[in-house]
Amino acid sequence: MNHFEKHLCRLCGNSMLTPLYREDFLELRQTSIAVHTNSFIYLLCSQCGLVQVEPTPAPEFLERYYRYAPVAGLDHELLLTVKDQYYQETIEFLKRLQPRRIFEVGAASGYLLHQLAETFQATVGGLEPSDASRRWARNKYGIKLLPGMLSNLDIKAHRLQGAFDLVIACAVLEHAAWPVAFMRTAGDLLSKGGYIYIEVPSLSHPLKSELTEKVVQPFHLCYYTPASIIHLGARAGLTCIHVEEIKTLVVPIYRALFLKQSSAAITEKLFRAHVQWFDNRLDLILEDCRRYIGGASNVWIWGIGDDFFKLWTLSPETFDPTKCRLVDRNAVKISKHLGPFEITPPDSDLCGIPDVILIASSSHLIWKNILKDAQDLFPQTPIHILYKGDYNDRAY
Ligand SMILES: [Zn+2]
Repeated sequence: MNHFEKHLCRLCGNSMLTPLYREDFLELRQTSIAVHTNSFIYLLCSQCGLVQVEPTPAPEFLERYYRYAPVAGLDHELLLTVKDQYYQETIEFLKRLQPRRIFEVGAASGYLLHQLAETFQATVGGLEPSDASRRWARNKYGIKLLPGMLSNLDIKAHRLQGAFDLVIACAVLEHAAWPVAFMRTAGDLLSKGGYIYIEVPSLSHPLKSELTEKVVQPFHLCYYTPASIIHLGARAGLTCIHVEEIKTLVVPIYRALFLKQSSAAITEKLFRAHVQWFDNRLDLILEDCRRYIGGASNVWIWGIGDDFFKLWTLSPETFDPTKCRLVDRNAVKISKHLGPFEITPPDSDLCGIPDVILIASSSHLIWKNILKDAQDLFPQTPIHILYKGDYNDRAY
């Protein structure tokens, strides 16, 4: 397979790019009656999976193109019916974020922004290079969009730094020649902990030549895979927290959500939440222990291992030594002491007859054995498995 080493991947900088697809087309130039042959080629990066088109158009060319783009001349009224269906899922997805300040890059005629403003009672702003589309957005929805491209947006002059909690770019990032710069600038618009939501077309299986005329066009400068989307976030100082392929549309797309936070900070937050969840669970178990012990005079706590030790260290006062017995069949544990308790075998000659048995092991294998043992010994005694699954369904 040939590699194009003269180009570098515009996302990860890798030089090993594989040609995927080439298209030649005829170009009519206004300045000349001659017809010129032109071509573009798609290259796949072997490292990050980005597919990029070459040659890369100059930024000035792109700005001019999108200002007068064909989409600006399309019948926006007709597009409304299509967009209504298309954006329903997008709006549904964004409901989990409950954004209050939204900025859209490439807002076109302002339809989605208008819907989002209505749905979330949000303040909205946006950017749209097409003069005709901006006019439409202003006349139809009263939304005043900024002109130009994101790469030229003077964020400070417009006082947009950190001004939004959600930036969206639907069907836009594939038009950006330099996606990392695009995402960094989009990130600058966000407050800390804000989100960027993108939708980009998917090629699904580029190597199987499933490029179709629906998606392939010279102004789609980059195509993405889940790997390159995640990589893109990391390069731009964002963390991709969701990526999925939507195959139900005529043109399959990827939708992705990025958080303006480092992955280390997100991991720490998740870890804290995880620890909190365990602590809350232990609190509920201790609450149960207090309830059972409070109403009984002889409580056997059966299965004394790390699980019980943790409960004990958190709240030794919960386990009243005048009411509780610690029992275990494991010979290694017998006669060991825990505070005022001595671990004994589950023997009624030593411990009397229990009013209630609390099984204190979280291991399925162990609590099931203890349960059988306890039921055989004391068929009438209520037994509670402290760690068993759901809290509403724990009593046996
Ligand atoms: Zn790459």
